[in-house]
Amino acid sequence: MSNVTPQKFEFQAEIKQLLDIVIHSLYTEKEIFVRELVSNASDALEKLRHTQITEPAAAADPQELAISVTTDDKAKTITIQDSGIGMTRAELIENLGTIAHSGSKQFLKSLGEGGAKNANLIGQFGVGFYSAFMVATGVKVYSRSWRAGEPGHVWSSDGSGSYEIEEVADQARGSKIVIALKDDCADYATDWKVKEILERYSAFVSFPINLNGKHVNTVQALWLRSKSEVKEEEYTAFYKFQAHAFDEPRLRLHFSADAPLAINALLFVPKDNTEKLGFSRTEASVALYCRKVLIDAKPKDLLPEWLRFLKGVVDSEDLPLNISRETMQDRALIGKLSKVITKRFLKFLEGEAKNHADRYAEFYTEFGIFLKEGAAMDPTHKEQLVKLLRFESSLTEPGKTTSLADYVTRLGADQKEIYYLVGPNRAAIESGPYLEGCKARNLEVLFCYEAVDEYVMGNVREFEGKALTAADHADVKLTDLPQPEGALSEADTKQLTAWLKETLGERVAEVKVSDRLVDSPALALNADKFMSPHMRRMMKAMNKDKPESPLRVNLEINPRSALMKRLFATHAAAPEKAKLVAEQILDNALISAGLLDDATPMVARLYKLLESV
Ligand code: ADP
Repeated sequence: MSNVTPQKFEFQAEIKQLLDIVIHSLYTEKEIFVRELVSNASDALEKLRHTQITEPAAAADPQELAISVTTDDKAKTITIQDSGIGMTRAELIENLGTIAHSGSKQFLKSLGEGGAKNANLIGQFGVGFYSAFMVATGVKVYSRSWRAGEPGHVWSSDGSGSYEIEEVADQARGSKIVIALKDDCADYATDWKVKEILERYSAFVSFPINLNGKHVNTVQALWLRSKSEVKEEEYTAFYKFQAHAFDEPRLRLHFSADAPLAINALLFVPKDNTEKLGFSRTEASVALYCRKVLIDAKPKDLLPEWLRFLKGVVDSEDLPLNISRETMQDRALIGKLSKVITKRFLKFLEGEAKNHADRYAEFYTEFGIFLKEGAAMDPTHKEQLVKLLRFESSLTEPGKTTSLADYVTRLGADQKEIYYLVGPNRAAIESGPYLEGCKARNLEVLFCYEAVDEYVMGNVREFEGKALTAADHADVKLTDLPQPEGALSEADTKQLTAWLKETLGERVAEVKVSDRLVDSPALALNADKFMSPHMRRMMKAMNKDKPESPLRVNLEINPRSALMKRLFATHAAAPEKAKLVAEQILDNALISAGLLDDATPMVARLYKLLESV
């Protein structure tokens, strides 16, 4: 059948509706038309490659399998050509004149669901071939099928209801789409603009893309290759390219899965935690691809918040390419992806912790804070995350850490709690009065140095049925220890505590004998058990202008300490000086507890005490 004269066709009603919206309502993200046409070209080449295996006619034509993009800024055109399977006349009518195909159908469906009223939503859709009409005054599709003896045709339309098809001579196999651009879209006829778009969306398309004769997609989609084939340097180069990074990746996870979803993923942990360096909050930046074509460079919900430090690529064939970008329509699908990838990454970290403990420790020093965030905020992954947490403890060497699981293996039979202390560093916790009671009873105490730890421990609450308990909490009850000789008698102690309460007045809620002091003379516990020292400091920082709520503490004393014995011996004889000493003991205890708000009165008092030496 030969058709030399142009023949005019009406678009199917749905296509008219679609075109109307594409032309009149899509203002945002016009540039995606390049991505859509390049991905169609890539599909056409892929189909040809498959056809070549079984059909000699498809293999006979030796044209290189490539995509060529050319721009002409004088004529204001952009042309996208491929040497793929091409279309016959019937296929041109079927594919470009009716709504038989997937992406655009999805689009129309969402319009039916009220999307038409939301221009933004529409803007975030890819609408396949028809997206060209966002920028075009006219589109011509030159195409010749791979089938032997098929003539070439040109399909043309201005998008307003009808199109024409005419036979053309000397058409190469494949399709060539020539877009005459609207005046305000003339940028898409410039090399620089199109280069930028191709690099963004189509950097990993498997077929060579030449822009005005220059090869632009030189990076391979490493994530689709088998691990054993990829060299270390290739991974590093890819990481630097994809994450726009200058460092070397610290850890890498390259995996593929078939069920429940087809996924190929290549994830990197960078060298440094930039949030820790004081940069702003890291943005989620694991990019989402569908068969090497970018869907979204920074999908918000692909991974949980606490994995925002990851870089890399997730590619899933199961994603409809055309569906959308920022607001991905198929929440359920993204949720599934997220679940699979997160689970896999956590498993990977477990493996690291077990098999490469040193490397894991270094990773943890840098990125542990994200795991803590997850453990505290993400109930779905809490259990796995808690196992990955590491702390120094009273039993570890400085700089070495323990997991909660290891802590539990060292527990005494009747220990029901996991103790921890929060402090700025090891030395501060070790020299404070809170540790000694636990130490005397051989109770291991985890050391927490980060401001968030308190919050994290409070949210995690328990591990393997053992409550996480702050050892400086007023409620902590420690078992009785055999009392060493030489303490003040019970009666004397009673007298001393009563005197202290009277002397210190409003500053203390209660004064009593401590069960947790061994060497230090006294310690302070916040009488408000719901307000830890750290929380108190945070509240203070947040409410700078408000008057402070007065601090009341419980003072616990050690009747075995030399200082208490001496204080008892002298308080009656030298009440003035004894009062100064009592106040100083309280202040010292407050300093250790991180509760001393104002040191000024203390300085004056110390001078007075020094004078009396
Ligand atoms: P989708 O790609 O989602 O199917 P499009 O509107 O982009 O929707 O394209 C419609 C159909 O036109 C495609 O399914 C394909 O069969 C055909 N087509 C588009 N571009 C090309 C091309 N460059 N070469 C061959 N066929 C093409």
